[in-house]
Amino acid sequence: MKRREILQKLALAVPAGMMFPSLINSCAPKDPPLQPVYEGKVIIIGAGAAGLHAAQLIKNQNVSVEILEASSLYGGRVKINDPFFDFPQEQGADYIYGNSNIWYNGIKDKGITLEEIPKKGSFVMDGVPAFEADLIAQPDNDFINAQNFVSNLINYNGPDLTLQNAVVSAQIAQRAHHVVEGQVATPAGATYNNMSVKGISDNLKNWDGGEGRYFSTNQSLVQVLGSLYNDVLSLIKFNTPITNIDYTDPTNIILTDGDGNTHECTRVILTVPLAVLKSNAINFSPALPLVNTSAWNRIGMSGGIKVTLSFISNFWDKSTTAIYTEGYARQYYVPGIVRTNSNRVLSALIVGDQADALIGKSDEEIVQLLLADLDAIYPAQGGKASKEFNEADSYIFDWSKQEYIKGAQSYLLVSGTGAAAQMSTPIQDRIFWAGEATALNGNNATVQGAMESADRAALELFDVILES
Ligand SMILES: Cc1cc2nc3c(=O)[nH]c(=O)nc-3n(C[C@H](O)[C@H](O)[C@H](O)COP(=O)(O)OP(=O)(O)OC[C@H]3O[C@@H](n4cnc5c(N)ncnc54)[C@H](O)[C@@H]3O)c2cc1C
Repeated sequence: MKRREILQKLALAVPAGMMFPSLINSCAPKDPPLQPVYEGKVIIIGAGAAGLHAAQLIKNQNVSVEILEASSLYGGRVKINDPFFDFPQEQGADYIYGNSNIWYNGIKDKGITLEEIPKKGSFVMDGVPAFEADLIAQPDNDFINAQNFVSNLINYNGPDLTLQNAVVSAQIAQRAHHVVEGQVATPAGATYNNMSVKGISDNLKNWDGGEGRYFSTNQSLVQVLGSLYNDVLSLIKFNTPITNIDYTDPTNIILTDGDGNTHECTRVILTVPLAVLKSNAINFSPALPLVNTSAWNRIGMSGGIKVTLSFISNFWDKSTTAIYTEGYARQYYVPGIVRTNSNRVLSALIVGDQADALIGKSDEEIVQLLLADLDAIYPAQGGKASKEFNEADSYIFDWSKQEYIKGAQSYLLVSGTGAAAQMSTPIQDRIFWAGEATALNGNNATVQGAMESADRAALELFDVILES
């Protein structure tokens, strides 16, 4: 079967939002495979969203496939916290971005309730929180300029600069820089002094994931992944960190794990996070081509500390969905906003420089610093945040300390255009690349981006093995 027919059958040629239903419906396990069975074996490294999705596609073709996962869990950066809260509190991904993509549609298919998050940001200007409408009415022209800059990022066609330098060039007043950083860089796991403005603009132009942001109200996202990919969970070998990939033999690839055990296969799909690749935790023999590794230097993946602070009662306006500050957390958001009657919880992802400034501090010290930031913004009677703080239901999770993740999300650095495609170049038609950093449709750093990268990698693989 030729590539075009495979594409049609797998519906990989249709827009991202249409892919998942067709995968499930047209490639259900009972369906005949597209092609006489391939006799080789595929190993997928990593059981995050990309690895699970790739495994499902390959299994559907009756091709022998196994997933080797370093940790004891599947999901990777989709991870639930202990059930402290009366809603599913996520340590990794929690927003579903857009209503027309593989992830959103897959969730909807399973009957899981998704609620759209209204957009009501509170922006701290000169230490005082205010809603956008009020800042426009005042008017606060620095704030308005910053908001216009954010709205026009999709049309940016100036030089490839850091977002910070682009903000400076646009003469946005310093007191409003965090308005841009908190809305644009923070959700991408980056700070504005390292992210490429062209990368952001290209991603916005390429984005085809639909509108809105959503929370699942009744299930954690790792539960959702588990039910979407229930078929392939038994194929995962846990606690199997791959440390060496030897592809010297043209007919056999030998993977070695942390215990020295070997795993043999004919094709590999690698889905490990970019920061793991950059750390050289996996040795390749022969060494990887420069075309792949040089691209790694044009994509960033910073440290990221996910903080969730719980309060006895909420001291901010109850309709607020996010608070943008100049402090350690450029953006706090309210994960309970559409999930429970009580929205007493603030979450934040502290990244880049702000995260670096917290290196060496204990969890208690970090919490105290964040509470001090919040006390200054909500100052009544010596600090509302500190007074209302509910320590038992609060937590800190440092993604950079996770040995098999080592950071938050990927983002394009200056000169990063084309780097994701470059790093995904298959090696000898035997080693293929998936994972969010290799997503090409403007949706890296998302769960659907990870899944779509697996679509691409599976297609590249089928192109080779189903024609041979
Ligand atoms: C704090 C945070 C918040 C986020 N928020 C959102 C959000 O709101 N919405 C959204 O869509 N996305 C969000 N993301 C991004 C999203 O979680 C990721 O893009 C996506 O989950 C990545 O999936 P993946 O399969 O590419 O990688 P991962 O999920 O990282 O999976 C890779 C897997 O590889 C395994 N592995 C690593 N090294 C080895 C090895 N040597 N051998 C074997 N296995 C190995 C890891 O253990 C892991 O399970 C967030 C991420 C973070 C960290």
